[in-house]
Amino acid sequence: MSAATPLPDFKQRSGTALSDRLLKVAIDRTTGTARSKRAAIVGLWPDFEVARARGKAIKDHVVANLGHYLVEFERNARASGAKVHYAQTADEAADLVVRLCQEAGARSVTRSKSMLGEEIGLPHALAEAGIERVETDLAEHIVQLAGERPSHIIWPALHKTREQISELFRVAHQDPHGEETPEAMAASARRHLRVKFLNADIGISGANFLVADSGSVCTVTNEGNAEMTTTPPRVHIVTAGIEKLIPSAAHAATMLRLLVRSATGAALTQYTTFHTGPRREGDLDGPQEFHIVLVDNGRTRMLADPALRDMLRCIRCGACMNHCPVFNQIGGHAYGGTYPGPMGAVLTPVFDGLERSRDLVGACTLNGRCREVCPVDIPLPTLIKGWRDRSWREGLEPLSVRTGVGAWVFLAAHPRLYRLATRTANLALRLMGRKAGRIARLPLAGAGWTAHRDMPAPDAPSFLSQHAARKQESRP
Ligand code: SF4
Repeated sequence: MSAATPLPDFKQRSGTALSDRLLKVAIDRTTGTARSKRAAIVGLWPDFEVARARGKAIKDHVVANLGHYLVEFERNARASGAKVHYAQTADEAADLVVRLCQEAGARSVTRSKSMLGEEIGLPHALAEAGIERVETDLAEHIVQLAGERPSHIIWPALHKTREQISELFRVAHQDPHGEETPEAMAASARRHLRVKFLNADIGISGANFLVADSGSVCTVTNEGNAEMTTTPPRVHIVTAGIEKLIPSAAHAATMLRLLVRSATGAALTQYTTFHTGPRREGDLDGPQEFHIVLVDNGRTRMLADPALRDMLRCIRCGACMNHCPVFNQIGGHAYGGTYPGPMGAVLTPVFDGLERSRDLVGACTLNGRCREVCPVDIPLPTLIKGWRDRSWREGLEPLSVRTGVGAWVFLAAHPRLYRLATRTANLALRLMGRKAGRIARLPLAGAGWTAHRDMPAPDAPSFLSQHAARKQESRP
């Protein structure tokens, strides 16, 4: 997201999402399947923890030697015939891609799914330049037809039901499906997109990995759309964050095993392609020009910051959001930035500033499940707590939060008062829920807790009262 775009109101969006029952069903279906498939395939891999440690070590090594691998990648990519460009900011990257499109006289570009493209605001920049953009990942195609943004980094259309997708296809496709089955609808999209693939002037892709010792760009998809995006057009433009570097194809093998299992619960994606330079003499197909745009956009700042450096290991698998209780309630759009869920809570303040994304940092229960499933062991709860600390130190918390925390600190420093307060609160809650065992509406500052669900009433005295009673009983 470009710095000029205001971040939408998180609380208001969360409220809307929590009231949307269809959305909850859609999220539960997709993330539930993702969790069980991941658990099954990781369960079949006795060396998962060994591979995870190796993946972490590979990424840490690259991050510690980023300058070295950037130079090596650039040298080998140029030797293969690619043109390598650098962009410091999101706007610079988007402008660069638009300029490359204009220099090639492009009127239509196809694009395979790339969260970095979203991060730098490429869809918007292309539209402003009057260049037709066709998203070719099936879910991105759905999101584009709906005029929306992705709600998940792996399943961008996770929030859409089959009926909604069917309606979008019937309106947009020239030869739409008859039956409303997934197969017929996919065939409808295939017919629609094939014409676009064959007529595009430029194909734009992201990169899952940048292989330093060969200058290759590795992409993985399940639909083959990256290959169809990058092979027929005259020009292929890659946009990639500089943290995507890995030393060699052998390292890519380790990272791919971790990425795919964590992202989709499969052993491998259907298509894994290493793109190395433009078409060479004797090649039957491939682009005549191959550009690689390497984007910083805050990454070197993260590198210099010990509290954020671990995040540069992220391989964008989405496992953390599938296992996040907050994401599973509100979905991705509520987060407002490019990246939702726990990884988004860490990255969005880097791109959009802490002041504008402070609420995301607060939307975490710190249960730690995200770290447990992260294939490169990123300590997400610690990084989120780090942002909270900064938010507090920089005085960004609203007065209500500062007052509340101040009151709690006062009570915690006065044990008698603390006990009295917890006993009184416990008694009040038990009285409020004495009929149904649940509380439908809490007053004042507690109203937010019951805005979208009932709160179970406590069915026993407070912990401190029980503890004191037991201590009393156990006395000789
Ligand atoms: S933080 Fe970890 S789990 Fe989340 S997307 Fe990145 S690599 Fe995957």
